[in-house]
Amino acid sequence: MFRGLAANWPAVKHWTFTGLAGLAPDMPVQLVSGDRERGSTKFVESTLRLYLESLQEGAGRENQSLYLKEFDLLDAMPRLRLDLMHSEIFPPRSIRSLQSWIGPAGARTGLHHDYLDNLAVQVVGRKRFHLVRPGTVERLGAVAAKYDSWARLSRIGALELAAQVAPQGDFLAVDLEPGDVLYIPARWWHEVLNLTPCILFGGFYGPPAQVLARWAWVRSRDLLHHAGWLGLNDCTCHPGN
Ligand SMILES: [Zn+2]
Repeated sequence: MFRGLAANWPAVKHWTFTGLAGLAPDMPVQLVSGDRERGSTKFVESTLRLYLESLQEGAGRENQSLYLKEFDLLDAMPRLRLDLMHSEIFPPRSIRSLQSWIGPAGARTGLHHDYLDNLAVQVVGRKRFHLVRPGTVERLGAVAAKYDSWARLSRIGALELAAQVAPQGDFLAVDLEPGDVLYIPARWWHEVLNLTPCILFGGFYGPPAQVLARWAWVRSRDLLHHAGWLGLNDCTCHPGN
């Protein structure tokens, strides 16, 4: 955890939901409804501008479980790139992806682990990360069968799992404030809860050979999934599952 490492980024200093909503195009976006890691997979259609407006201070709370995840905000609003300084924090010559998680207070991502290292930058709002040491969910027999292209999911949340075992330092929790950067190594399990409306940029990264090998592995599994040979009727990408 690097407290305040990004505190001087223009995005951290200046972005507000009201300001972003005023600049956002009316492009369609797909919102995830509820905790699809543990519950069923459901999507709701909106537009980027309407969704950002709904997150403004004083807006109604009816969208509490609608979450814009893994969203390419910089593709939708390229000028925002000037406000971010990711090249300062990623290792040189690494391949990296940059996606945003935008959502209201109470929105959550269920316990899962990724296959690549990740640097998460908290830009707006406060967010709680529960982290669980690699191997813990596996040892407790809680790995879910549910298919996700880029992650492995847990059937049971971090707090429920922690209650099942004697605490041995396998469970950590940390709250991110605007400007904080969290390094989440590959295979560390994490569950994430918005304490306030939030914008976070997450980036997978790694040496080119490692990232390309993982990408090819993900793509081939995804082809099997879309052909109906893997994770049929139990996945985070097809609604109703
Ligand atoms: Zn699917």
